Amino acid sequence: MTEMTSADLVRKAIDVTGMVQGVGFRPFVYRLAQECSLTGFVANSPSGVVVEVQGLGERVDQFLDRLPKEIPPLARITSLILRGLDPQKESSFRILSSLLDAPPRVLISPDVAVCDDCLREMANPRDRRFRYPFINCTNCGPRFTILRDIPYDRARTSMARFKMCPACQAEYDDPGNRRFHAQPNACWDCGPQLQLWSPEGHRWDVSEPLREAARLIEKGLVVAVKGLGGFHLACNARDEAAVDRLRERKKRVEKPFAIMLGSIEVLDRFCIADEAARRQLLSFERPIVLLLRKAGAALPTSIAPRNQYLGIFLPYTPLHHLLMASGKFDALVMTSANLSEEPIVIENQEAVDRLQGISDALLVHDREIVRRCDDSVVRLACHQAQKLRRSRGYVPVPVALDHAAPPILAVGGELKNTVCVVREAEAFLSQHIGDLENFESYRFFEEAVEHLQRILEVRPSIVAYDLHPDYFSTRWALGRSGVQLVGVQHHHAHIAACMAENHLDGSVIGMALDGTGYGTDGAIWGGEVLVADYLDFQRAAHFEYVPLPGGAAAIHEPWRVAVSYLVRHYGDDLGNLELPFLKQIDARRLRVVQKMIERGVHSPHTSSCGRLFDAVAAIAGVRSIVNYEAQAAIELEMLAHDSSDEDAYPLDLLPEGSGWQIGTRSLFDRILSDLRKQESVPNLSRRFHRGLARVLVELSEKIRDQTHMHRVCLSGGCFQNTLLFEMLQEGLRASSFEVYFHSEVPAGDGGISLGQALVAAHRVGGRAAAP
Ligand SMILES: [Zn+2]
Ligand SMILES: [Zn+2]
Ligand SMILES: [Zn+2]
Repeated sequence: MTEMTSADLVRKAIDVTGMVQGVGFRPFVYRLAQECSLTGFVANSPSGVVVEVQGLGERVDQFLDRLPKEIPPLARITSLILRGLDPQKESSFRILSSLLDAPPRVLISPDVAVCDDCLREMANPRDRRFRYPFINCTNCGPRFTILRDIPYDRARTSMARFKMCPACQAEYDDPGNRRFHAQPNACWDCGPQLQLWSPEGHRWDVSEPLREAARLIEKGLVVAVKGLGGFHLACNARDEAAVDRLRERKKRVEKPFAIMLGSIEVLDRFCIADEAARRQLLSFERPIVLLLRKAGAALPTSIAPRNQYLGIFLPYTPLHHLLMASGKFDALVMTSANLSEEPIVIENQEAVDRLQGISDALLVHDREIVRRCDDSVVRLACHQAQKLRRSRGYVPVPVALDHAAPPILAVGGELKNTVCVVREAEAFLSQHIGDLENFESYRFFEEAVEHLQRILEVRPSIVAYDLHPDYFSTRWALGRSGVQLVGVQHHHAHIAACMAENHLDGSVIGMALDGTGYGTDGAIWGGEVLVADYLDFQRAAHFEYVPLPGGAAAIHEPWRVAVSYLVRHYGDDLGNLELPFLKQIDARRLRVVQKMIERGVHSPHTSSCGRLFDAVAAIAGVRSIVNYEAQAAIELEMLAHDSSDEDAYPLDLLPEGSGWQIGTRSLFDRILSDLRKQESVPNLSRRFHRGLARVLVELSEKIRDQTHMHRVCLSGGCFQNTLLFEMLQEGLRASSFEVYFHSEVPAGDGGISLGQALVAAHRVGGRAAAP
């Protein structure tokens, strides 16, 4: 180095906040400083990372230029604050031990798919981690699922019980090493190990549990595999008998199974995927991506009956990679190990107890899963990735808010529950918790609430909940004392969630279409067009009310709601209609349901759009009884893909008060007339979808005429229907609306905790409604 005087030297301090701890940030800064010939130091601080660099001005500039551009893959910078300092006498760049005098406010990383560097080492016979199923580094591996408490270091994870061997420890201590402070660092000598167990939990004496598990799968057996956020049940996806056996044992009728492929190279054998879809599959979050099944893909139909989409994902742990490479198969069914809607199994003994009679063997290990976390699910629509389930890989990354708020806990809905904690200007959603009517899920809910508050170090005194008095989350919230409670209407929460992630303020037209949500009039809402801001909403329009004979029973039996619509429009004498689906219903049950409707017994009124889909599906003969949520609507949508018809069924816009009611008389007139003409069901389905999209655009135009609003937010579970979403979005855009949708959180009920939190923030914070 040439001689320089202190006059040439520049010293800068940089405060970095964001996801900068436990992600290899300090070694990265260290290397970058070395490359730029700078002295100084880097250290973790309570709010993130502090860097001081010193050197020639141009070198410092170079460093500052490269820093944000070259950060490690898992790091995220929220803010970078720069200060000038006086140069000091200094000869090297150092990594200082953490400044842990105040509670840290750093972001915790989600779990990350194994990186290419680790995969290369794992495949190298001369590497000491050759074929080691738990290889990881600062750029990859488990995080959230092994975390007990903060700050994130090994002692507070389930790696605490594994003492590093000298070789691992040396890597861990070396700032220049890829594994510097990699908390889950491990190897064959010191880290977790695999075992193969019998269904009764006896360890089988096999030298290579992984190869043996692969052999069992080859033979057509079902193996429970312990993963990152829980167990999967695995079988060969090409083996029809194995897939059927798994369905039967798991009591999972027809609901699609996800498939893990050996590698991206075999994707073309099964699916049609564009670049955006491939990017999602290969992203470090590794979600399940819904992709169109290729015609002639050699897979048993029982993987996803009557569904054109396959849920595909790629290996994300080293164990998955090894398993896929160890057997003669290119695709495995990998479905969450649980019974029907119970939470995913995470403990070894729990797996033995709960998977009796389901799995033929268990591939387990001794690294405990501390946080249950299901696979995330993503689909692509209008060239955009949308999360249907936001869990492993995304949690606990926060959703950025526009304004800071006091700490808030929002407890979500009943189905597909998530909870949300707001800390300052960030909203942290929990992993997917599931359906709370299930006792195990309810316990999981309580655990998730507790854990999220602990790792964020906030105890919110504001709790937001859904208005439905029977939701378990609502009852839990109402049972709190010493907190301020804020009840939020279900569909208002949907729209507020959509506004929040799109950073909208003021008022919008909110279209919330879903299955069930408690309305302010006590009816079951679900086809709602709101004029809303964060503070409040007005119901501008809704689908007409029909009785829902049997309440929840009608959700499982779409024929009931079909009968309800028919009685409403055509009276009691259904025999005259000559509809084939009616002939298949037991005459006595049909009479009972008609009586329920007539007398209003156990028949709450509903404006649900999901139920309208059910009714049309039943009348068209697609499905009278469902085996999983929304099955009738999904199958109706799938059929529309086989049609290119341009027609649209009419729906009626009927004035009601200062708004509108969407009537369905003309719709059913046309459906019945088309059925009499033996019109194809795919055409019928397409006309129904287009009709819905058309009437919603027309309605938006009327609301715009009244209010001059031109921003439309779409939310609710019905928008999992890609066809409806795309037709509506296209129609609204063609009519010059700005259309906003979800990409960060699900449009379904997994997203409402975010909306509840935002409504509570505005109500309690006294933020006035924008004009
Ligand atoms: Zn790695
Ligand atoms: Zn080791
Ligand atoms: Zn909903």
